[in-house]
Amino acid sequence: MAFSEILGQDPAIGLLQKAIQQQRLPSAYLFTGPAHVGKYKTALALTQAINCLQPGEDACLSCDSCLQIINQSFPDFFAIQPEGQFIKINQIKELLKWLHLRPASGKYRILAVEDAEKMNKESANAFLKTLEEPPPQTLIILLAEHPQQLLETIVSRCQIIRFQLLQKAHVEQILKEYQQLSPEQLNFLAHFSMGCVREDWVEKIDALQTMRDQVIDFLLNLSPEQMEKIFKAIEGWSAPKDKEWRYMLDFLEYWFRDLAWVWYGLPAEQLLNQDRMEKLEQCAQRFPLNRVVKNYQKVLQTREQIRMNAYVPLALNALWIHFKQSLVK
Ligand SMILES: [Zn+2]
Repeated sequence: MAFSEILGQDPAIGLLQKAIQQQRLPSAYLFTGPAHVGKYKTALALTQAINCLQPGEDACLSCDSCLQIINQSFPDFFAIQPEGQFIKINQIKELLKWLHLRPASGKYRILAVEDAEKMNKESANAFLKTLEEPPPQTLIILLAEHPQQLLETIVSRCQIIRFQLLQKAHVEQILKEYQQLSPEQLNFLAHFSMGCVREDWVEKIDALQTMRDQVIDFLLNLSPEQMEKIFKAIEGWSAPKDKEWRYMLDFLEYWFRDLAWVWYGLPAEQLLNQDRMEKLEQCAQRFPLNRVVKNYQKVLQTREQIRMNAYVPLALNALWIHFKQSLVK
């Protein structure tokens, strides 16, 4: 992964390349910005660029170091993710010791911490000690979507690099690498991924497309018999393993947003569900604008309730009962 392969993050990449060129790498970076826009890939590209055996601002992709990084066998790079809800002290302890050793083969030893805001208090304190006295020839890269949740003392010791949402043309270009996607599926993903590239969406593309149409059909018919079917579907989507309910909430959010725009008369090409225009219009006749707005808010509230540990199927059933009650009689 070279810098030149990362799309849509020129300001971030520019800062990193400048630091390499001027040989002024900090001991720690904090990469912030939305999920799925290339933060981790950039961490890899940076690892490659500073360990590449050919001098330059970008990796050559063919020297021993570059090849090891591509094959995930480079001994001086390690990435850590939360185990469950948190990054725990026992995950960090050994790694910080590892970081203090001299690089095994590379020029720099790099530790990337994904979802760094999920470090618990103990881990964060252990980390802080290393940041205060960074070992030579090491680089720590913290990746965080919500940096405000990190200890201020940690943030102040990192150089911050901001990542942005991708433009649609870049999303499309990245998605084209997934050759299993049909043009229609690619278009669907480019529309719904809202400036990021979600690999989980690519993997589940068929199920997602079916789910969207199912959700739309449910909204167009909320008869008592249909409500039974909806509750049944929710039961399936609430299975803890796949957590498909999250996608249902995404689609509902986009649908009600589009409905509001239909009410305001926004041109069809700006709607996310423009390929389901007829159904949007049918739906707009059944939900007046004030209720569309209310339903949209209710979707956001439900997401928040679940985040605060509400029981998923119950929260979702309540949401659909709310939709039914908001129909024009
Ligand atoms: Zn190289």
